[in-house]
Amino acid sequence: MTVLDDARDLRPDLVRLRRALHSDPETGLHLPRTQEKVLTALDGLGLEVTLGKALTSVTAVLRARRPAADAVPNPVAAPVLLRADLDALPLTEATGLDYASGVPGAAHACGHDLHAAMLVGAARLLASRRDRLLGDVVLMFQPGEEGHDGARLMLEEGLLDAAGARPAAAFALHAASSAPLGRFSTRPGPALAASGTVEVLFRGSGGHGAWPHTARDPIPALGAAIGALQTMVTRRFDAMEPVLVSIGRVSGGTAANIVPDTAQLAATLRAFSDDTHRRLEAEIERVAHGIAAAHGVEAEITYSEGYPVTVNDPAATDFVADVCADLFGADRFAAAERPALVADDIGRVLAEVPGAMVSLGARPRDLDAGRAAPNHSPRAVFDDGVLADGAALLAELALRTPRDPRIPQTSRRNPEGRPLI
Ligand SMILES: [Zn+2]
Repeated sequence: MTVLDDARDLRPDLVRLRRALHSDPETGLHLPRTQEKVLTALDGLGLEVTLGKALTSVTAVLRARRPAADAVPNPVAAPVLLRADLDALPLTEATGLDYASGVPGAAHACGHDLHAAMLVGAARLLASRRDRLLGDVVLMFQPGEEGHDGARLMLEEGLLDAAGARPAAAFALHAASSAPLGRFSTRPGPALAASGTVEVLFRGSGGHGAWPHTARDPIPALGAAIGALQTMVTRRFDAMEPVLVSIGRVSGGTAANIVPDTAQLAATLRAFSDDTHRRLEAEIERVAHGIAAAHGVEAEITYSEGYPVTVNDPAATDFVADVCADLFGADRFAAAERPALVADDIGRVLAEVPGAMVSLGARPRDLDAGRAAPNHSPRAVFDDGVLADGAALLAELALRTPRDPRIPQTSRRNPEGRPLI
């Protein structure tokens, strides 16, 4: 039986697990019910499991096993890391599915339930093939991808040392509810954006709506800032350079006839280099302070750093394309022409370990491109027919990863620090 045949036999189990996760979503860093379901699904596979302290992560090491007759030491190569995120989004599902979220205000609208099921599937496929593995496999089940930086916490808690040697490569899949069903896609180099958040608070001085001249009204400043920030992006940055400011929240005031003391906006920022992010922050500051001065109010600006750029290793990306083509046929892989402006904390792992983040189209068969709701929509629907293929790809990547000697392998370095061949 091939890995793919085996994966397709696992399909009913993976669908059951995915739907159990889907109907009982949890958000943030603490996902006790989700962690329990993952642990139950991994039970009996003979994994070395470590649970997170600052978050309900599961790190499971699957040890390679060489046949006794094999003269090669056991194991011979650095581990491969495979990652799934586990958390849902804080929104109320509106899909009408019979396994829809039963938790108001929480929904798996970004497909992380599929990611978890696919990684469990890969664990099962690999557990029965330990003697074919060149090195160990680290399975990373991560809470808190949606803005909580769970990957950073897992790295701080020793993720990369879980198997005793630093991973040679890392791979992750991300389901896309509006991309063609079963199509794998990624690109070398920058693949996903670096993110940040800015909050701008305009502070004036409140008063009666009938006598605005006796107050210092922050509302017109807020209104001017919304347009000015968008104009700033188009005037201060090269049009060929992707830079994005999306204002997702504005607030201020309590009643129609009261001039409030303050009004504020919050925006997400996306760009593809730290340098661009620093420039973007400086420009926002300049615009906000300038507008505040023009309106006789003050601006208070607060930044929070988000995720770094997700950069795919070119060799790892080629390798993913080759394995996809070999397993599923060349038409199932499409090189992504451009990076995407979404952000993901897998970028923190890929900054340490060469690898690739791969998108997997999961648009339901009966929806054409224009009608499928995208990830993060309360109406996003993912076809779980992709689970077996996703699990098979992850397993094959772990089985076939060439353990490239240029990749740092702490356990195999000679005293001069040069990698051994
Ligand atoms: Zn996501």
